[in-house]
Amino acid sequence: MLGLMQDWPLTVDRILDHAHSWFPKREVVTRSLEGPISRTTYGNIWRRAKQVTNALQGEGIALGDRVATLAWNTERHMEVWYGAMGMGAVLHTVNPRLHPEQIAWIINHAEGKILFLDTTFVPIIEKIAGELRTVKAYVILTDRAHMPSTALANAMAYEDFIEGHAQEARWGGFDENTACGLCYTSGTTGDPKGVLYSHRSNLLHAMAANSADCFGAGANDVVLPVVPMFHANAWAIAFVAPMCGAKLVMPGAKLDGPSVYELLESEKVTFTAAVPTVWLMLLNYLRETNSKLTTLKRVAIGGSAVPEAVLRAFEDDYGVEVVHAWGMTEMSPIGTIGKLLPEHYAQGHEAQIKAKLKQGRALFTVDMKIVDDEGHDKPRDGKAFGRLMVKGPAVARAYFKNAGARDAKGECLEADGFFDTGDVATLDELGVMQITDRAKDVIKSGGEWISSIDIENIAVGCEGVANAAVIGVAHPKWDERPLLIIEPKPGANPTKEQVLAFLEGKIAKWWTPDDVVHTEKIPLGATGKINKLALRETFRDYRLPNV
Ligand code: AMP
Repeated sequence: MLGLMQDWPLTVDRILDHAHSWFPKREVVTRSLEGPISRTTYGNIWRRAKQVTNALQGEGIALGDRVATLAWNTERHMEVWYGAMGMGAVLHTVNPRLHPEQIAWIINHAEGKILFLDTTFVPIIEKIAGELRTVKAYVILTDRAHMPSTALANAMAYEDFIEGHAQEARWGGFDENTACGLCYTSGTTGDPKGVLYSHRSNLLHAMAANSADCFGAGANDVVLPVVPMFHANAWAIAFVAPMCGAKLVMPGAKLDGPSVYELLESEKVTFTAAVPTVWLMLLNYLRETNSKLTTLKRVAIGGSAVPEAVLRAFEDDYGVEVVHAWGMTEMSPIGTIGKLLPEHYAQGHEAQIKAKLKQGRALFTVDMKIVDDEGHDKPRDGKAFGRLMVKGPAVARAYFKNAGARDAKGECLEADGFFDTGDVATLDELGVMQITDRAKDVIKSGGEWISSIDIENIAVGCEGVANAAVIGVAHPKWDERPLLIIEPKPGANPTKEQVLAFLEGKIAKWWTPDDVVHTEKIPLGATGKINKLALRETFRDYRLPNV
């Protein structure tokens, strides 16, 4: 027997429709690429997104066509986002931090027909335009007055592109499983792979991501996604904010400490989200200028593990709650959330800090387990490490064009339908997950595993250390031993002895790095994570002193 409830396909156009109906005057504030702070509303964004739909259709874009964007978080990016998704085109966010050749490869692979780009990215695209086989038109996200002179053929200013188009257009009316967004993984091994979100997966994921124990944002919140829309849908915030009617603050191209701080204070932001490197910059700025955070209540941190020093600074020094999140592009992206449980609250402050450093428990819609190399379940004892496997309606089952397929159906799943995250983790008795490493970064020493992430997170708390990375280097007896690479703070010179003394007692003795070396800058990848591949390359000929 089927239920007798209405059929209301879960398509994301309904999110902006809802914001337009119920929060039409709620502000969306942008630090524009042109410079000034601009202010609009969900009502205006809805009307202009409809113009985008009409303009796209005028260019021949139809259901399923890929519409690419190379853009920061701005109101115009939101308009293109909903204008394309609403009509059933696939919004393909491209990460501008990738190498231009990779950008060209990705746009070609996705077969983008039209590319919307910020003025800052025009030089990049001019260089590779000759290689872009499918792009027929370039829309530069500005007005005529700010239009750069460009060699790009068929380039037009965004304001001209939408001008004169009707502010009404039909959205939705297609199956909720229709493709909605396309985002490529960073591709640290092999070519990048396309994750093709559906309307249904994005909508369900946004609802889960905004549950009380996750972002928990509402119409009284002011939300600043520092995490870019090209990084897995700004962790769902581009959907969450209009869904709940929160005021939205878009940081544009300026993600440095002073700029983020200025927006946090001037717009009275209550909730924000980004990777740890952004918060290291902000916290440094706060300390240098002796500034306070007067309105911020919660900060979501993910993409890589929250360093203990960052957690303590936010919670203890500035009274801001840290929401530690883990996920990946293939998971839309959020998988777990580090909100504490009653059992944690029954313990002291230090135990709570320790629990918050873990990546957290599964969001509803995520099923999760850890297994050994043969696929057997590992115990939930907080000690046993295993490959982290996930399942759910917002988890990829295949990559675009069947890249990385493991079976004849083109899917990328294990035999039991679980997706292998490539992370290694523990699960404790309370179901709280802790990432111990990327499977390929874990250091195998004498048959045992050493977590590079653990050591890094502790090391960044040491005085004079700006950033830290641990890689495994060859050792004749133990196979591999950890090498700690330190990026000192400007003017600081933390010695090997000081750093090792700081680690003592905080990690198992046999995890102690065999050497500590300095580097000017720890290389970061396109999504702000430490680029271990580059570090391994730099230190390829390095020999440990005790060998
Ligand atoms: P991406 O698809 O670029 O978002 O990268 C996903 C990967 O980032 C995950 O598989 C993890 O290895 C890593 N990651 C994300 N969040 C965290 C976190 N909170 N702690 C540790 N690693 C994380």
